[in-house]
Amino acid sequence: MSSACSIPIYYDLPDSEPPIGAPALAGDQDAEIAVVGGGLAGLAVALSLVERGVRPVVLEAAQVGDGASGRNGGFLQLGWAADDERVEAALGADAAVLFDAAKDAVALVKARVARHAIRTAVTPGIVEASLFADADELRRRADLLSRRHGVAFAHLDRARLGEWYRTSVYRGGVLDPCSVHLDPLALTRGYARAVLAGGGRLFEHSPVHALVPEPGGIRLVTANGRLRARQVVLATSVYGRDPDGRAARALLPVMTYALVTAPLGRRLEEAIRAPYAVFDDRFAMGYWRPLPDGRLLWGGKIGLSDAPRGLEAAMLADLHWVFPQLRDVAAERVWSGRMGFTRHRMPLAMPMDPGLWLATGFCGHGLGTTTAVGELLATALLEGDRRIDLLARFGRPWAGGVLGPLGAQLLYGWLELRDHVRLRRLASTAN
Ligand SMILES: Cc1cc2nc3c(=O)[nH]c(=O)nc-3n(C[C@H](O)[C@H](O)[C@H](O)COP(=O)(O)OP(=O)(O)OC[C@H]3O[C@@H](n4cnc5c(N)ncnc54)[C@H](O)[C@@H]3O)c2cc1C
Repeated sequence: MSSACSIPIYYDLPDSEPPIGAPALAGDQDAEIAVVGGGLAGLAVALSLVERGVRPVVLEAAQVGDGASGRNGGFLQLGWAADDERVEAALGADAAVLFDAAKDAVALVKARVARHAIRTAVTPGIVEASLFADADELRRRADLLSRRHGVAFAHLDRARLGEWYRTSVYRGGVLDPCSVHLDPLALTRGYARAVLAGGGRLFEHSPVHALVPEPGGIRLVTANGRLRARQVVLATSVYGRDPDGRAARALLPVMTYALVTAPLGRRLEEAIRAPYAVFDDRFAMGYWRPLPDGRLLWGGKIGLSDAPRGLEAAMLADLHWVFPQLRDVAAERVWSGRMGFTRHRMPLAMPMDPGLWLATGFCGHGLGTTTAVGELLATALLEGDRRIDLLARFGRPWAGGVLGPLGAQLLYGWLELRDHVRLRRLASTAN
């Protein structure tokens, strides 16, 4: 029996990375650099600093990985949450700098998993499976992506995809051989352990209530302790409270959902004959991946509530639509997660005031881009690297306040309806 938003989520496995168990901040302490938020964003910044000889302090409101970082789909992909075209339109030739940073981040995550012996399988290959595009469009897309990212994306025609996946819904696809899928909670906890091993400090159960500017630094205030730092990086996303308030104005909290089945054994192998993770091209994409223990992880849908009515049934209906041969398969665990969405879909990674930086707003694409921003921010702080200014060029547009969720709900509803109508139309032309 499953229940929406049940905790622990699937990833909290006995043979995976155990919880960190760090103490709460107490008394008065000092740090050169403090990072607020123990998700991948905060920990990626901290790890990039540690790797350059700096020993930051990370303050986490709950436990490491409790936010989106520990509950996501595990797709570690090239690129940013914004469409590549949008990044190119905004930055012109400079877009290549950010595409390279995202590509380097995928390689860096893989290297760190190996270097720090982080307990997760890292499975290569992510397929974009199309419900809408024809073979010519997909071939052109594979060529374009290959040129843009310097990786050989492969066009998959319907027959090839059909050999791998026993479903009739996809018209073809594109394989990205460079991207990987992995256990995101293990990665997040692994990053935290690497930060500690490198001399960083970490405090859990330490929500930062206030930031008090002082000469030469900022004082961070928690219930039982105070930390004085020369530089502060805010990586709080939309779990907990943004102690500064300005990032929160630019972030729309968007929920998305995932489930896992029980181990399916041979039935999984019969339906799914390739190890890749797969996502489709609907607006609120459906995505799934076979897990190392023979379960199927299924994700998708977006909304504004943690546990919308009928969620589990709707997600299972999607799974059964793609794989009718699994129509009796149930969910063993269903959960939700909250993402911080920006209007332009690029992260907010920029200086705010002297000594105060943001590293947040990774939308639904933070598994690799948090590491990219960690590198950009650490090199900006320590080496005067200005690549991070490219992200600041997207600005910090207001997310709409209380009207933001309502506008988003209407837009999402409309785009989902549009996908539904397109699918109906394609099905009727095929018959
Ligand atoms: C179900 C789901 C599926 C997803 N799938 C993918 C995917 O497959 N691939 C991908 O790339 N991305 C995916 N994402 C998005 C990805 O998870 C996020 O972009 C990423 O984890 C964001 O990391 P973060 O550190 O900014 O936020 P979070 O992980 O949410 O971390 C923020 C942390 O800040 C802490 N915090 C908040 N306020 C305070 C405070 N005042 N003091 C101290 N600490 C504070 C919180 O407790 C939290 O731990 C998915 C997200 C969800 C929810």
